Amino acid sequence: MLNFNLSDEQVAVQKMVKEFVDNEINPYIRDWDEKGHFESSILRRLADLGLMGVCIPEQYGGSGMDYNTLAIVCEELERGDTAFRTAVSVHTGLNSLTLLQWGTEEQKHKFLVPQAKGEKVGAFGLTEPNAGSDVAAMQTSAVLDGDHYILNGQKTWISLCDVADHFLVFAYTDKSQKHHGISAFIVERTMPGFSSKAIKGKLGIRAGNTGELFFDNVRVPKENLLGKEGEGFKIAMSALDNGRFTVAAGAVGQIRACIEESLKYCHERKTFGKEIGKHQLVQQMLAKMEAGYQMSRLLVFRAGCLKNEGKRNTRETSLAKWQACDFANEAANDAVQIHGAYGFSNEYPVERFLRNSKAPVIYEGTREIHTVMQAEYLLGYREDKQLSNPLPAWPFEQKETIKN
Ligand SMILES: Cc1cc2nc3c(=O)[nH]c(=O)nc-3n(C[C@H](O)[C@H](O)[C@H](O)COP(=O)(O)OP(=O)(O)OC[C@H]3O[C@@H](n4cnc5c(N)ncnc54)[C@H](O)[C@@H]3O)c2cc1C
Repeated sequence: MLNFNLSDEQVAVQKMVKEFVDNEINPYIRDWDEKGHFESSILRRLADLGLMGVCIPEQYGGSGMDYNTLAIVCEELERGDTAFRTAVSVHTGLNSLTLLQWGTEEQKHKFLVPQAKGEKVGAFGLTEPNAGSDVAAMQTSAVLDGDHYILNGQKTWISLCDVADHFLVFAYTDKSQKHHGISAFIVERTMPGFSSKAIKGKLGIRAGNTGELFFDNVRVPKENLLGKEGEGFKIAMSALDNGRFTVAAGAVGQIRACIEESLKYCHERKTFGKEIGKHQLVQQMLAKMEAGYQMSRLLVFRAGCLKNEGKRNTRETSLAKWQACDFANEAANDAVQIHGAYGFSNEYPVERFLRNSKAPVIYEGTREIHTVMQAEYLLGYREDKQLSNPLPAWPFEQKETIKN
């Protein structure tokens, strides 16, 4: 039976993150955004609250909650700012859940446990200067030399580039095999030959850290190969199923923030002798936001329910990500419109929402890539099969694990 109610535990998490955002992000975010400052203490505070591994099993250092609780965390965080939701998306969605899905027990013990506890931060390096949507155009290479792979190349537009300790990095081990020649590696910041550099002058997510990674003969031990050689593309796509879910959930929070700010302003501002909320064309913008909010939230929770059941959800997650991010971008545009000229200044947060809402329409599959995917599913050109290493269903089974 369908159940649209949140559990008591989910309501408690929702309240906790909302208060955290209201007290520890919202009072400072305008300043951080203006200065282009990433406030890394927020990640430590999220760790204190058990939110850096909210849906990672307790045996691997996480809080053991379900996948829809991760969505709730992302929704509430993005109500504050996209930067911190993006951090959770890459740390938990793209990195930790991928380790949970594909890692050996040794890899989970060494990398996932400290990440789930928030002692270490994870990131995800797929995109390159000449390879975004077209992943197979990547040039980074990994050549086996004894018991190490030697990595050379560059990644760009990597969230948490200067902050993360561990990076999931994708590189060719056999370029002649195209998609089947890509492998996934766990690269540690401390490895000689690794460096990173933030990108300046971004349109949005200015309170976030995004930039480049460089690999100059980085020696990565064989035990840091995730999955098998040649499984990197499959691993990257499965990681995106989880990352996109968090992006969609965050977009729901962005829409809610647009609604909240617009409602306040509609009651405050008067034109032609009445509150602007009384003008039908303003009401139309609000009504569109509400429709986008409700529809996106349902799509996100449907994808979360499939994850909880351990079912493949690439198609449903792609639809949720595409629609929620588009709705959020439109909602932010309308929120600025409702604020008139005041919306054009950072005296009000809606201009930041508009700038922030653009990146999620681009990252983790652009609007166009998701549009094409949805059409291909309909036409029968694309079909999802169960993965060899599916995301574990929730409630999680207790497994034997290595102890310290
Ligand atoms: C703030 C931010 C954070 C990011 N964080 C990360 C991260 O942590 N890790 C990471 O690996 N990457 C990250 N990215 C990169 C992001 O995933 C890529 O930008 C995205 O995949 C698109 O690639 P591209 O920018 O190279 O655009 P391109 O792939 O070059 O696309 C350019 C345009 O062509 C369109 N297009 C391309 N192919 C098709 C097609 N087949 N059909 C129709 N239209 C098409 C696109 O939709 C787009 O409009 C981030 C990006 C941003 C902006």
